Amino acid sequence: MIEIKDLHKSYKMGANSLHVLKGINFNVSEGEMVAIMGSSGSGKSTLLNILGILDEADEGTYHLDNKLIKDLNEKVAAQYRNKFLGFIFQSFNLINYKNALDNVAMPLYYQGVKRNIRMEKAMHYLERVGLADWADHLPNELSGGQKQRVAIARALASEPKVLLADEPTGALDSVTSYEVMELIQKINDEGKTVLMVTHEDDIAHMCNRIVNLKDGLIIDDSVVKQVRAKKLIHV
Ligand code: ADP
Ligand code: MG
Repeated sequence: MIEIKDLHKSYKMGANSLHVLKGINFNVSEGEMVAIMGSSGSGKSTLLNILGILDEADEGTYHLDNKLIKDLNEKVAAQYRNKFLGFIFQSFNLINYKNALDNVAMPLYYQGVKRNIRMEKAMHYLERVGLADWADHLPNELSGGQKQRVAIARALASEPKVLLADEPTGALDSVTSYEVMELIQKINDEGKTVLMVTHEDDIAHMCNRIVNLKDGLIIDDSVVKQVRAKKLIHV
């Protein structure tokens, strides 16, 4: 599903440049649930942004679903993002003046999906995350965990092949984090590929593979036995 080879990325800062990714190699197969770990500044978000076609590497190759992602114009990049990728962020990134249902429907609007189909799908995915009763509530009427569920429904609405999450539980307390992870695990159980950045060990162990980044290189890449979030919630 994802193949990256010898990926390099630097940020130019005036006359200087900061070499952030120094030759990253890894593949992700369909259905995997992968945690990307590493200390702050190790390049996790940089890598996720490249995988999300929000940024481009300086060197190396990235294939997504066997397509080479390189020098895409913004229109094509947006089409690939819509078709293949769903995003979840630490800070939810919901639109404050739109209710939960409209937030979930938003990406479908940009894809030109007709209103009735858009609303039907949005409701379906709100139900999927257990928030059908909250459809007409604004984000500020929802708890942190509920906001992240709305964001997950929004990511799912365009039926992407891969979910990319940058610290999805970073703004949540631990019980709420586990509830969100329980939902993400269920989505992965159904076959969706998931890649998430986290710096929390317990969250990483809820994936089935952990990739460790240090100073722009992968220093460890291990398959782990997945800890089920549900077990930790109900103790
Ligand atoms: P992480 O997500 O692991 O904390 P990042 O990928 O965000 O790390 O950042 C890696 C390094 O690159 C950091 O030193 C950060 O300051 C720097 N960096 C990130 N984005 C930019 C940017 N747009 N311009 C310049 N430097 C950046
Ligand atoms: Mg980061």
